[in-house]
Amino acid sequence: MKELLLCKYGEIILKGANRAFFENLLCRELKFRAARHGDFSIYRSQSTIYIEPKEDAVCDIDGMLESALKVFGIVGVSRAAVCDKDMDAIRTLAREYIPQFLAGAKTFKCEAKRSDKSFPLSSPQISAEIGGVLLSACPRLKVDVNNPDVVVRIEIREYGAYIHAGQYKGAGGMPLGSNGKGLLLLSGGIDSPVAGWMMAKRGVKLEALHFESYPYTSEQARDKVLDLAGIVAGWSGSIRVHVISLTHLQEELKRCCEEDYFTLLLRRAMMRLAERAAKEFECGALITGESVGQVASQTMEALAVTNSVVSLPVFRPCVGMDKEEIIQIARKIDTFETSILPFEDCCTVFTPRHPRTRPELSKVEAQEALIDWEPLLEEAWASMYHVNVRPDGSRAFWQKRD
Ligand code: ATP
Ligand code: MG
Repeated sequence: MKELLLCKYGEIILKGANRAFFENLLCRELKFRAARHGDFSIYRSQSTIYIEPKEDAVCDIDGMLESALKVFGIVGVSRAAVCDKDMDAIRTLAREYIPQFLAGAKTFKCEAKRSDKSFPLSSPQISAEIGGVLLSACPRLKVDVNNPDVVVRIEIREYGAYIHAGQYKGAGGMPLGSNGKGLLLLSGGIDSPVAGWMMAKRGVKLEALHFESYPYTSEQARDKVLDLAGIVAGWSGSIRVHVISLTHLQEELKRCCEEDYFTLLLRRAMMRLAERAAKEFECGALITGESVGQVASQTMEALAVTNSVVSLPVFRPCVGMDKEEIIQIARKIDTFETSILPFEDCCTVFTPRHPRTRPELSKVEAQEALIDWEPLLEEAWASMYHVNVRPDGSRAFWQKRD
């Protein structure tokens, strides 16, 4: 018996003339991820991508399934068995393959779909036939057409007859790389990994920028951020994390400016550096985990003050979400437990006791004028090093070019 995976995709079916472009991106991503699970042929036909072990190849179908469920653009994956387009063969396969999926069920129904119209039986006839076969193989089961525990599907397609029971929910969204590249400002918190994941889900390839402030922030804090990048990379593919030190800049801020403005001035400096990095690494947008009203630096007025120093679009996918909703996603993508590890972030170094929640731009600019920014920003920029974080969590470090 031959088992394979059938991947269904959602939104991109609506893409008309561009559809092949999206389908090819999906196939490429699946091929890339399949390499470590065995030797598979991956091809598409009739709005489905087939992942099929090659003849005699040793393949880890379970591992492949798990990987496929993390590929954005796929809405569902079924484990299926295939046979010739012949009613006897389909009956035998149904009897051998399907009962394992019906073990805990009380009711089921069969749904056949015949994309190959030359097949002699109609879809209702196929459903009735295979329903009969399964009832005799599992006599304690009943058919329930309205609300069955399991739906058994028989698909008569271009390359054969496929039979499966149950579909795993895929990651949804758009294929990676179909919507450009964005620079994620990645802290060790809960929100920014979620923000990155949400944009990757829309097909945006990620680069990340992290600011540290050693020795006020620790090496463990930085490692935690790389761990988070590794978890997100399981969905988004490898992420290059660029790390910039803000130690001196923050010390100067503390020395020269009014405490109430620390956070805002720091965030403006971060945004300036982020925009420079985005241009350097060819990213079309910045991505942050900000959410309106969550903290003092995220009131509408504070966000406007931070935003006004950059011209690139800033995507804030969490902007309208409650913390609880963000946490729900963090749990789903498995970043939550890492995010709540108690390490400091450079934003929490020298936190003002009374941060401005309704800042006026003119006052912020007056405070900003107390510092000679250029050399500080240059120094921060020159401190940058890079880490390539792969989906398996492994890392490669390198220092700035030039
Ligand atoms: P998070 O949970 O992601 O840390 P937060 O609610 O704690 O977010 P802030 O610390 O104010 O909020 O940061 C807001 C956003 O600014 C973060 O979501 C992130 O995008 C960015 N940011 C904060 N600190 C850093 C940092 N050290 N390096 C890079 N980006 C940062
Ligand atoms: Mg934070």
